[in-house]
Amino acid sequence: MQRIKIKELLEGAEAGHDVLLKGWVRTKRGNKYVNFIAVNDGSTIHNLQVVAEADKFSEEALKDVTTGAAVAVTGQLVASQGKGQAYEVQATHIEVLGKADPEVYPLQKKAHSLEFLREIAHLRFRTNTFGAVFRVRNALAFAVHKFFNEKGFVYMHTPIITASDAEGAGEMFRVTTLDLDKLPRTEEGAINFAEDFFGKATNLTVSGQLEGELAAMAFSDIYTFGPTFRAENSNTTRHLAEFWMIEPEMAFYDLQMNADLAEEFIKYIIRHALENNRDDIEFLGQRLAEEDKAKPQNERQEMTLLEKLEFVANNSFERITYTQAIDILVNSPAYKKKKFQYDVSWGSDLHSEHERYLVEKHFKKPVIVTDYPKDIKAFYMRVNDDNKTVAAMDILAPGIGEIVGGSQREERLDILVERMKGVGIHEEDMWWYLDTRRFGGCPHAGFGLGFERMVQFVTGMGNIRDVIPFPRTPQNAEF
Ligand code: ATP
Ligand code: MN
Repeated sequence: MQRIKIKELLEGAEAGHDVLLKGWVRTKRGNKYVNFIAVNDGSTIHNLQVVAEADKFSEEALKDVTTGAAVAVTGQLVASQGKGQAYEVQATHIEVLGKADPEVYPLQKKAHSLEFLREIAHLRFRTNTFGAVFRVRNALAFAVHKFFNEKGFVYMHTPIITASDAEGAGEMFRVTTLDLDKLPRTEEGAINFAEDFFGKATNLTVSGQLEGELAAMAFSDIYTFGPTFRAENSNTTRHLAEFWMIEPEMAFYDLQMNADLAEEFIKYIIRHALENNRDDIEFLGQRLAEEDKAKPQNERQEMTLLEKLEFVANNSFERITYTQAIDILVNSPAYKKKKFQYDVSWGSDLHSEHERYLVEKHFKKPVIVTDYPKDIKAFYMRVNDDNKTVAAMDILAPGIGEIVGGSQREERLDILVERMKGVGIHEEDMWWYLDTRRFGGCPHAGFGLGFERMVQFVTGMGNIRDVIPFPRTPQNAEF
């Protein structure tokens, strides 16, 4: 008999057939007449209840059917009399494929804390919460490709190892094969990277954008979706040292078109998850609601997770300039009551507390902030006519803060070179990037969406460590 997955079985179920089911035991309970075994195979949040009657299965036969064990079950699919499920399997045969000694198996029936589960990340996939989170993550990743593919964007693989440190100076991971105990030196005493693997100093990339721009100058519309690395020592709930980023880059786009695309994109992938992973999102929503009950009234969510996602997918994002954002913040009750830790003034960057005030308290919806002061933004962002601001955009999401950073790019060679000089980047090192401005350059724009922050938003998970299978953070690279 061919094995059937629980999701498929529940979707097209017809009682009366024999089925072969394989998965992991979540729970076993029973009495001297009958045992109920909940089996999950990861295809859905729902378990399938296996009924093992004592006259067919001795205690001995079921002794290894314990939480965590891998089993193969054959039996007849029947309409369930119990509540909570439509179907169950009346077992005729149960084979234990892999035992899980209950004395030492770390996952118990009771709910475990997310912190504890992070310490056993190799097993946490087997919980309802992480099953749901990673199925939603998968759906979102698929939707990313679907969205861009439908729009005719070319998926571009940009390099992971890079010799350019234009974007990430100071927060990059060095890649080397030099013997750290015997570093080759130049005559001046500096490390001689000419002897390193690539003949120059190399790092893990912080972004695929610069290479993405090169490709956009041939394909018009491209996107990258790959891992990026930042050695920033920020131990926050929104930063990882290794995270995945989606970076579309579009020729002939201005800032407005860039913002329109980003908004359409975010709504599209949320809708995809709502349509394809509703059960998971409902489960995660209930989880959040439970968590919320423990909080004081004024800190509770106004909307359920489902309501929030429906709302974001169906309403337009607010759009304001940086200058307007500063005005709102300076005139806010929070500012007047000195509730912000960091000061607000034109010219300084918005901190996460300010971003969250704007989206959560003031507008109560995602906000696209544009036209930041040029001194706090990257050299490649296009300088506006006021010569004080650049055509940048950040998208801020409730509960997360910055989820997208993007801009129209500086296509004018002379201004770009000036800006690079200003931040100490050598023209010679970036000759290939500057060539796009020399040969057939054109107005273009793009953005970067932090994939894990998006997964946080859709799953409602508060800590970014809980939406990537094996998080990399300072002092932590287990698994
Ligand atoms: P932040 O101010 O939150 O550190 P950033 O300004 O450094 O973000 P960008 O360089 O614009 O971010 O990167 C684009 C996107 O990548 C961000 O909008 C965010 O969604 C995501 N991102 C940036 N740094 C991290 C990180 N360390 N871990 C996870 N996601 C990140
Ligand atoms: Mn950052």
